Amino acid sequence: MQLKRVEFELSSPSLEGCPRPILPEFAFIGRSNVGKSSLLNMLAARKGLAFVSSTPGHTKLINHYRVDNAWYLVDLPGYGYAKVAREDRSKFSAFVADYLMGRETLSLVFLLIDSRHEPQKIDLEFVDWLADEEVPFVLVFTKADSVSKTRLAQHMELFRAEMALRFEQTPEIFATSAKSGDGRGALLQLIASIIQEKR
Ligand code: GDP
Repeated sequence: MQLKRVEFELSSPSLEGCPRPILPEFAFIGRSNVGKSSLLNMLAARKGLAFVSSTPGHTKLINHYRVDNAWYLVDLPGYGYAKVAREDRSKFSAFVADYLMGRETLSLVFLLIDSRHEPQKIDLEFVDWLADEEVPFVLVFTKADSVSKTRLAQHMELFRAEMALRFEQTPEIFATSAKSGDGRGALLQLIASIIQEKR
């Protein structure tokens, strides 16, 4: 699948403020600095396509992009800002929770995980929350180029083991690199296949 037209539609501070739910949606979330902007630009395959989340004020909003009039790419606020008090770190905004629980057209969440680290508590807590709320998600390891193949495999395996503790059928796990473009085809193919199923 090629993305021909990626148009910013709107930024919203609430579920109610999101665009009319008429197209399937694919949402991207992860802790801040996980490489989300880079991944989105890599998926769109356009250098410098202005994903508004990189501009002040938009990082804490739900950002909708309409892709080829067929689906919405949704850029969600990151969680785990380092500056936030420790007890707040694992929390994410209530309106993001509203969106994830209440968005009828949400097809899949791409939960981004930094390849450089072993499973982090904050990410596992978010996984647990998604599982409790029965929000469908897959795991996307970012920055795969920044660690050795052995280390990457190790970290993916540790995560897979954590998933096996929680799910009968573990969510799919992808390795991606915004630098090399690795994983782009697999993610777009997954999106295309889900859209196809819904038709
Ligand atoms: P965001 O805060 O989640 O949107 O993360 P960014 O996309 O701004 O990336 C955070 C940092 O990670 C930046 O310094 C990027 O250059 C770096 N980064 C992002 N993706 C990759 C990648 O695929 N490979 C490498 N080596 N670095 C990356």
